[in-house]
Formats: sequence, structure tokens, C-alpha cells
Amino acid sequence: MIEKGADGREYVGPVNAAQVPRWAGLGTFARLPRLDEVGSADVVVAGMPWDTGVSYRPGARFGSNHVRESSRLLRPFNPAQNVSPFKNTQVADAGDIIGNPFDIEEALAAMQAGASELTRNGTKMVTIGGDHTVALPNLRAMHELHGPVALLHFDAHLDTWDTYFGAEYTHGTPFRRAFEEGLIDTDALCHVGTRGPLYGTEDLDDDARFGFGIVSSADIYRLGVDAVVDLLRRRVGDRPLYVSLDIDVLDPAHAPGTGTPEAGGATSREILEIIRGLRGLNLVGAEVVEVAPAYDHAELTGIAAAHIVYEFLSLLALGKNPPADGPAYGEAKHTYGQ
Ligand code: MN
Ligand code: MN
Repeated sequence: MIEKGADGREYVGPVNAAQVPRWAGLGTFARLPRLDEVGSADVVVAGMPWDTGVSYRPGARFGSNHVRESSRLLRPFNPAQNVSPFKNTQVADAGDIIGNPFDIEEALAAMQAGASELTRNGTKMVTIGGDHTVALPNLRAMHELHGPVALLHFDAHLDTWDTYFGAEYTHGTPFRRAFEEGLIDTDALCHVGTRGPLYGTEDLDDDARFGFGIVSSADIYRLGVDAVVDLLRRRVGDRPLYVSLDIDVLDPAHAPGTGTPEAGGATSREILEIIRGLRGLNLVGAEVVEVAPAYDHAELTGIAAAHIVYEFLSLLALGKNPPADGPAYGEAKHTYGQ
């Protein structure tokens, strides 16, 4: 479906659902055009279907296409952010970035090259994993463009462990490696939704040493979404911001289809609202990882992930100077930054 944007440019949006029902046709994210159909794009969605870094249940390699399949019902207007993310922004599905499933270091290099290739000309990217190891090549690519980036890391886990069975590159270690490589801005790091048992208090000591703050899963419940948003916005400021979201930040009731589930997580409503609260920050990219469809039920996890990606695309469409209008419905307008 082609629509003229406010700038007079024509934008190719999702397939028209009044002509082709949502369940029909080959699956791209939100039924958007493929990148090769539009030539270039302002924003791309790309799969990173690689899970050689998992430590418990495998299967996130099937996550990218599962989220695409679960995104078929997304509609073109987002009332929660009062934006049509595909109308004034050319968004396309860039297909999958491939990494060797049998050689982790080679895969990391190939995935970094793939991420760099897609973002080199100023295109913003949201990736769908894959396990959380893919954060490292993504952050390396972001660092090439922006220097050290602010990082909001939504996850049940810290993912700043050192090694597992002697391996440096696993889905439990990407943010320690990112710290060691100088990829992240140590004044602007925060975990969100952390919970569950650790190996010991030294896990927390190491993590704090790298500069991370923690908004735990219990904090989200106790402080509430608006207070959490305020904390995160103050931590990030106007720095280039990368958001890494492990779907296990959601409670297993909301996202059973993942590799290392922990009880006591956030609801999808809370996480979607926190993401919406990042409106107007300098978001340079995002990823959603750890969707493992073999453990999903009724597409719960896939749908949650698809909606999270949609909110990231909405933030990218709004950019750094969004209109003051918050949600298009209700009395409770957002007032972030006012
Ligand atoms: Mn996790
Ligand atoms: Mn993780």
C-alpha cells in the first residue's frame, strides 16, 4: 500500500489488509515491503536467527520468523504514541543477517558486518533475535557509528557474567564484553526488569563496577511505570541510546516462549508503557532477543515481541522532536519531559 507522506514523498507501507487478508501472503514484519522492493529505507527490521550462545533451552534461532508471523495483526496507526510509523518513514524488512551456527567468533564478525552494512547510510535498525549473544555484534556496529552508546537493557538477567564452561561469548556475557571493548557509555547504563537467583553477590559487584544501574522487576511494581520512565530518562539524557530487550523480561505468563524463564516478571502492559515513555530520546537502534517458539503457547511470546518491535519503530518514526501529543485516546496524556 503506497501513501503520500506529509513531505510529499511516497511511502510503501504494509500490504492493504482490505485487499489481502492478514493471514495470507509471505511473511515480512508487519507485512511491510522487503528492503529489495523499495531500494532503501529510513528504518529496517532484520532477523538475526542465531542461537549458538544459549546456556539452557535452545531454540531462539527460530525466533525471528516466529515474531514476523506473530506481527500480521499489527495495524498502521499506533494510538498509544499517536503516530503512523509507516506513513512518514520508509520502513522495510531487510531479511535475515546470517552467522555461522558452528563458529561463534566467525558468526560475531559476520553479524557485525551485516549490521554495519544495513545501518551505514544512516538507516536505523531494529533486529529480532536470536539469542542475546547478538547484542555484542549489534553494539560493535553501533559503536562504529556513534562511539560509546547509552544502553537500556530489559532482561530478567544481568548478562554481565564472565565466562560459561570457559566460553567468553555466550548469551550471558555480551554486556561484560561490551564494557571491556568500550562499546557502551558507562555513565548511562541501566538494566530493567532484573530478577531471579544469582551465583553470588559478586555478580552484582561486577555489574555495578561496569556502571550499570538496576531497576528490578519488583521496582517496576513498587515504583510504577511513570517513576521508572523518569529514572531511565534522567540516566540516558540526550546520548545516543541503544535498547536491548530480552523477551524474558516479561513474566513467563506473558512470554513462555523463551530459553531461561524466571518467575516474577513484568507484564507486557508495563514494558510497552515503559518503552513508550522513551519518546523523544536519541534512539539509534534496538533489538528484541530470546524468543524461542518451541516453548511458546498461542503465540503469546511472539505477539508480545511483535508489539515491542512496533513500539520501537514508532519511537524511531517520531524521532528526537516528537509532537507534544501523547496517546490519541483518553484523558491521561503523557507529559514526559514537561
Ligand atoms: Mn534473560
Ligand atoms: Mn539476556
